Amino acid sequence: MSLSVLLVEDDRELRATLREALTVEGYTVLAAASLADARALWAHAAEHDGIDLVLLDLGLPDGDGEELLAVLRLKRSTPIIVISARHSDDPKIRLLDAGADDYLIKPFSLGELLARMRVALRHRGTMLQPAVTRYEHDGLVVDLAAHRVSLAGTDLHLTPTEFKLLARLVRSAGQVVTHRQLLADVWGAEFTDHTHYLRLYMGQLRAKLEAEPADPRRLLTEPGVGYRLAEAAA
Ligand code: CA
Repeated sequence: MSLSVLLVEDDRELRATLREALTVEGYTVLAAASLADARALWAHAAEHDGIDLVLLDLGLPDGDGEELLAVLRLKRSTPIIVISARHSDDPKIRLLDAGADDYLIKPFSLGELLARMRVALRHRGTMLQPAVTRYEHDGLVVDLAAHRVSLAGTDLHLTPTEFKLLARLVRSAGQVVTHRQLLADVWGAEFTDHTHYLRLYMGQLRAKLEAEPADPRRLLTEPGVGYRLAEAAA
């Protein structure tokens, strides 16, 4: 059975391009050009097989995609990827904190979109299964259950906070995690404004995990938004 994608995009050309490309990839695409269309398709699909993933543009003729995010999040855990031309970081952060799984800034490549979709779908799928406890990527192995981290076969010593921070990123590997989410989950809800903690500990982690800490390949910065641990090897 193919996975169904609700594509909410008012740009006719982009909508057609994405619909065609995703169909070729085997997805069933339901396309909406407005918030009203999207709401109707969502409600209709909910009575049938439901939607497996939503691609959501923000600037729509009858309102902001953000309004739809709130509606979708009320009911289901369907992954939502925001596709937007906006450059300011604020809406991105707000949307991620409000429950969007990821975002892509236009223009983006099809390869990047498909990769983000796979990660988002896998994460939703794994929510029903035991939590992610092991991460392996390019010589780095993180075993959360055994509390062990090794690089190229050599055990690494991490401080408790470094380990908690890495563990949080492992649980969302391949996905962006906002500064706010990281601070709340690692330090606690009262520390969400202390972004300097993050910079400090991310620097320490990079010094231990990256071949070139100034040019990180594992612990990636999403400027103004948060961090993303490189996707684990399949
Ligand atoms: Ca638009």
